[in-house]
Amino acid sequence: NYLDAMERDNKKINAYVNPTAELAMEAAKAVDKKIASGEELSPLAGIPMTLKDNISTKGIETTCCSNILKGYYPIYNATVWEILQQQNAVLLGKTNMDEFAMGSSCETSCFGGALNPHDLSHVAGGSSGGVASAVGGNLAVYGLGSDTGGSIRQPASFCGLVGLKPTYGAVSRYGLIAYASSFDQIGPITATVEDAALVYDAISRYDEKDSTCRGNTGKPASESLNNSIKGKKIGIAKEYFDGIRDDVNDAIQNAIKVYESLGAQIVYFDMPSLKYSLPVYYILACAEASSNLGRYDGIRYGYRTPHYSDRNEMICKTRSEGFGKEVKRRILLGTYVLSAGYYDAYYKKAQNLRGTLVKAFQDAFQKCDVILAPTVPMTAFPLNFTAQDAVETYQTDICTVPVNIAGLPAVSIPCGFDGTGLPIGMQLIGNSFSEPTILNMAHQYE
Ligand code: GLN
Repeated sequence: NYLDAMERDNKKINAYVNPTAELAMEAAKAVDKKIASGEELSPLAGIPMTLKDNISTKGIETTCCSNILKGYYPIYNATVWEILQQQNAVLLGKTNMDEFAMGSSCETSCFGGALNPHDLSHVAGGSSGGVASAVGGNLAVYGLGSDTGGSIRQPASFCGLVGLKPTYGAVSRYGLIAYASSFDQIGPITATVEDAALVYDAISRYDEKDSTCRGNTGKPASESLNNSIKGKKIGIAKEYFDGIRDDVNDAIQNAIKVYESLGAQIVYFDMPSLKYSLPVYYILACAEASSNLGRYDGIRYGYRTPHYSDRNEMICKTRSEGFGKEVKRRILLGTYVLSAGYYDAYYKKAQNLRGTLVKAFQDAFQKCDVILAPTVPMTAFPLNFTAQDAVETYQTDICTVPVNIAGLPAVSIPCGFDGTGLPIGMQLIGNSFSEPTILNMAHQYE
């Protein structure tokens, strides 16, 4: 059924950039046999799913939706994909994304953007837009995306879905093609909180191949979804609401009332350092990206320019032809902030402010169990909106980047619709490794 639906609908929404129908059929048949033989299977066995195209899949082309990686077939699997294969997941294909996960609309993809299943004249969001488009358009039950500054939560919010950005270190990043390594995390986009909890429980394991990964050492998140939330404290930091659209604010105020009726207690406080989030994120993420993307030199992976006379010219032309505009902008920005004369003024300052933000969240979690905030200040952008002004687009990440700076978990869930029928999302932010708490709070709202 899913393969038929992909055949019919993928041309409309452009969610998949590399469908793997034959492999999916094989995997599904293998699960059928296991079921017939009475083997006990994981709840994820046989479930059709997708992976963002920056998650390495052995023998399956993995492009990060960049011309520079076209024709790249990884020789190993990302750990998350290893785990899911052991649990008999059925991969339907690789999904669309902003080039190297840099963007908020999926439109920097070299394959063109993925569309919003709620309204095809709007984007699915980004950078994991393809996963959200596929899950929202019923072309997959769930998918794994990556979230460096909002790329799981923002498209989930735009498409009326659940998106979980786990704690930094809860899920292995081995085999995730790096954008900004100190921010990147893999997580699920699903239709329900229960699905998100099941996928999170499956993938949040210690991995010796990623030195930053310890996995979830606590209880599975799926076991506490039905706990009462009576007496739980929900924090509201007013800075998260600065400049958000009225209809988004109204939807969140209604959600606050729902939580009050469920017995939660609302506490209000200020987090003035949140205003540094965007500059801190864009300085540090670009700095890390400029270093991570140094490896695309035409020698080791994917594309190489056909015309050159020496090695330097080959590297220069390969990178000039292979990378898109937004990626080049970030490599330049990142190289600039790391350069000898400017390092102290930008990179070092941003690192210090990162510490300030970490501290601000620690203080906040002395006062509450979770923080509730909008996911995005608005609903899905119309097509081509993000092509107009890069800085204006960066500003729309204002509510999602703070948790990546602090390494915290957050889940975005739907909380209403705007006047045109586009979904509105809100996020529940928790302290490190409190995924069971935020997913419990999210499930109780659903
Ligand atoms: N929109 C943000 C950016 O462009 C976040 C991207 C992400 O999380 N990968 O960097």
